[in-house]
Amino acid sequence: MYKIEIDGRAGFCGGVKRVIRLAEQNLSQGKTVKSLGDLIHNDPEINRLKQQGLQIVEHNVLEQKVEDGDVLLIRAHGEPPITFEMAAEREISLIDGTCPVVTKSQKIAREAYLRGEQVVIVGKKFHAEVKGIIGHCDGKAQAIMSEEDLKDLRLDPNLPVFILAQTTISPQDFQKGVEWIRNLGFQVRVHDTLCRFVTGRDKDLQEFSAAYDVILVVGGHKSSNTKYLHSVCKSINPNSYHIEDETEIDFHWFDGIHSIGITGSASTPPWMLEQIKAILEHQLNGKHSLEEGVSEIVQS
Ligand code: SF4
Repeated sequence: MYKIEIDGRAGFCGGVKRVIRLAEQNLSQGKTVKSLGDLIHNDPEINRLKQQGLQIVEHNVLEQKVEDGDVLLIRAHGEPPITFEMAAEREISLIDGTCPVVTKSQKIAREAYLRGEQVVIVGKKFHAEVKGIIGHCDGKAQAIMSEEDLKDLRLDPNLPVFILAQTTISPQDFQKGVEWIRNLGFQVRVHDTLCRFVTGRDKDLQEFSAAYDVILVVGGHKSSNTKYLHSVCKSINPNSYHIEDETEIDFHWFDGIHSIGITGSASTPPWMLEQIKAILEHQLNGKHSLEEGVSEIVQS
């Protein structure tokens, strides 16, 4: 009999809960809700919301005809000011789902930019949150995520450099980014804008990872938060696997072991964790708690 348990601290962060609540509230009022990009980095949850009527649209929607009653939902990653300006010009109704933690980063970056500092974000330059922050600095902020990116940095040695973080990267990656710029000889001012929901889980997650033979980290492959949490688990327990959904489970992982811990990122819905637990209980322990509609996985 396997011991199979879900991490009590796994599940949606406040920012994701909020944006999903906004989507569901407006959908239940009969509005056509269009999310500007994937609402969260989790396809099964997006599919669940699509079944309620949510539409996913791209930025060209800001140049198209808008039907009465349509509302455009800004996701938790936030947007640059131009998005809000274009929507206002075209009288598009907006619901701002920007996470308050991201709004704070945007404000901090803009204030540094207005003081005349050169803003550098340690984060992925094509990530929606980073693009939003760059927009809040009138397109003048720059982003680095690897040493390779340093060659593209354009910094004036006579001006101060201000560094902040994409909220969901690891503290180690942030520290590395800061050191790279310091090593170029710049005096830097650093503001730690990492999300405490993510970094605050490290210690608990390390303990959780040590308590089970195998750890399953459930979350989207595009989710920075999931990748980071997986790296935390893996540093403690080498038998930690990142899966997006139950179809990615390899049952050979459980040969000769006794316990499985299931955890998830800030964008992993609690129902997915329960579903994966039910599938494992069914397949490994012979429990018949699967709800109708949850497909069985055939052991290979
Ligand atoms: S991980 Fe943090 S910054 Fe990102 S949406 Fe959740 S609470 Fe906001």
